[in-house]
Amino acid sequence: MALASLEKKITDLRHLLHQYGYQYYVLDNPTVPDAEYDRLMQELIDLEAQHPELITPDSPSQRIGGQPLEGFVKVEHNIPMLSLANAFNEQDLREFDRRVRDGLALETVDYVCELKIDGLAVSLRYQDGLFQQGATRGDGSIGEDISQNLRTIRSIPLKIDETNTIEVRGEAFMPKKSFIRMNKEREEQGLELFANPRNAAAGSLRQLNPKIAAERHLDIFLYAVGEWQAGTIATHSERLTYLNKLGFKINQEWKKCQGINQVIEYVEAWIDKRNDLSYDIDGIVIKVDRLDYHDILKTTAKSPRWAIAYKFPAEEAVTKLIDVILSVGRTGVVTPTALLEPVQVAGTTVQRASLHNEDYIQEKDIQLNDAVVIKKAGDIIPEVVRVIREQRDETVRPFKMPDHCPSCGAELERLEGEVALRCMNPNCPAQLKEGLIHFASRNAMNIDGLGEKIVEQLYTYKLVHQVTDLYQLEREKLLELERMGAKSVDNLLRAIEASKSNSLERLLFGLGIRFVGVTAAKLLAIAFGEIEKIQQASYEELIAIDEIGEKMADSIVRYFSNEKVALMLEKLKQLGVNTSYLGVKPTSEKINAVFQDKTIVLTGKLKQLTRDEAKGKIEDMGGKVTGSVSKKTDLLIAGEEAGSKLSKAEQLGIDIWNEQQFVEKIE
Ligand code: NAD
Repeated sequence: MALASLEKKITDLRHLLHQYGYQYYVLDNPTVPDAEYDRLMQELIDLEAQHPELITPDSPSQRIGGQPLEGFVKVEHNIPMLSLANAFNEQDLREFDRRVRDGLALETVDYVCELKIDGLAVSLRYQDGLFQQGATRGDGSIGEDISQNLRTIRSIPLKIDETNTIEVRGEAFMPKKSFIRMNKEREEQGLELFANPRNAAAGSLRQLNPKIAAERHLDIFLYAVGEWQAGTIATHSERLTYLNKLGFKINQEWKKCQGINQVIEYVEAWIDKRNDLSYDIDGIVIKVDRLDYHDILKTTAKSPRWAIAYKFPAEEAVTKLIDVILSVGRTGVVTPTALLEPVQVAGTTVQRASLHNEDYIQEKDIQLNDAVVIKKAGDIIPEVVRVIREQRDETVRPFKMPDHCPSCGAELERLEGEVALRCMNPNCPAQLKEGLIHFASRNAMNIDGLGEKIVEQLYTYKLVHQVTDLYQLEREKLLELERMGAKSVDNLLRAIEASKSNSLERLLFGLGIRFVGVTAAKLLAIAFGEIEKIQQASYEELIAIDEIGEKMADSIVRYFSNEKVALMLEKLKQLGVNTSYLGVKPTSEKINAVFQDKTIVLTGKLKQLTRDEAKGKIEDMGGKVTGSVSKKTDLLIAGEEAGSKLSKAEQLGIDIWNEQQFVEKIE
């Protein structure tokens, strides 16, 4: 690169990083994902490493955090509060280990691994055993006095059993539950939402009114010390243990690791487990255990050489929106999907992301060729979260949803009160095919081997047009299809045959009646027993069933009033498809969908009824009672003095009721 263009590149990067840093650190309102910031920072660091003469002291690569906010008293950190160097993969970790071992001239080194809590760094100063002052990290040398706000965090002890002056450091954060609750309240009040728990925590602690911080339910984990006039301690692990003994909250997941291989094992285990925690972590911090080694290894201006932060693969990334493709669902809804320049998100390559509907696209002002932030959380399909306006250029073009169905060409309609555009043509090929796929799907008729590709073929070769055709397929005709050997044909026919003896709820769900999901289908099947009875049921009879609302009742009546539906059902019966409920009927005459098919755990002392009575009631209403709390648990009913099951359920975010709530529901 020519020097002039290199200088421009560096200036541009610094400008962007400065802007993003200001939004993140000072305004607590980031506009790009952390991974994008990290990527740009890495690019800058690499360029500066090649041209050290171009490094300036105000370069974002040389600075920690952001400026202290006006309005707070400034606090000077006698010992700077540093940042950490980053590692993004195993190789980076091994290189860090090599540098440490070289620096110490050792074969192997003991490390301590800790979770990297995604909050903000604070320092707490104690004198004569009393909490004296708390501050933010600020720019590392000067932070803000936020003592009043920190006092509202209940896990910060105001008094400790150590009279020497000590300064402890840690991460203040907002648990996921508090974050969700707070944003929900803000949404109701029409306020701007916080982007993530980190920024919510930072925003709360930098409020001038401590009452606001108190309402935000923040918490803290301590993991380091600053000034320390108490006795000497030899290792970081002993320090954590001592802090814990003094009454400070330490994250208990820390582990001492012998050598880098054990560190890598720890890191890998947490990549999978991180989502189970009740707070956000964005990586793992690895520290050399022996404190005398810290003195040998020293620090750079920005970060210690004896520690590194491994950053998890990002669940958000920035990429370009190339095009929008449209698909027609089984109910005729036309859904836009973004076609993206391939990008790595959380370990997989993403090329498509959901755009939801026309309103979503307009609200977010998403245009073709825009740089967009996409997000993948857990196993949810990626979605386009927002546009990065700063990166918009003259190539962007607005996107408009079509007026006609991309499958059959019929005019699209927008029903009142709905955001979706719909194709209303009942013979639309895309809808029919989607309907067949749904009919065969796992929760419906569960016909193994009848997926998207086969349905496409069956439809194209005019072998199947509607569900009744599935039960009249001929072996010879199927054998003529591409990639259909005798074995697959026989398996398919066997699966279709087997589906004839399914219980009614599967058929009901498979029909794809609007608003009727798996649970409602089961309720209807249990309540009426036979399809004829549902066909004849009035709106009033339907609505009398707990959990069946007006919209659903209306939709069911409308569906069954269609003559074609009656003919189809008659035909299915003739072909041998079962139309009765075959499951066990709950003994209580009132079916309660709250409990139906739910896995429930009872814990603690119940006062109004015995454990066995409670269990019996739940089972009568179609629920299952199990002994231990896991991800599969739907509900925990906690009596008095509930212990570990309650805390586990809280951690997993499972619904929790007290005894009174339970009694009210069953009554
Ligand atoms: P960092 O987050 O990369 O790492 C250092 C920090 O980790 C410490 O200061 C401390 O607060 C924290 N930490 C958590 N647990 C810890 C533990 N157990 N031991 C030690 N420290 C622990 O560095 P940083 O300087 O705080 O922030 C830089 C990061 O902020 C960037 O990597 C980026 O991800 C993010 N950022 C994002 C934007 C944006 O626009 N999205 C802008 C600026 C910064």
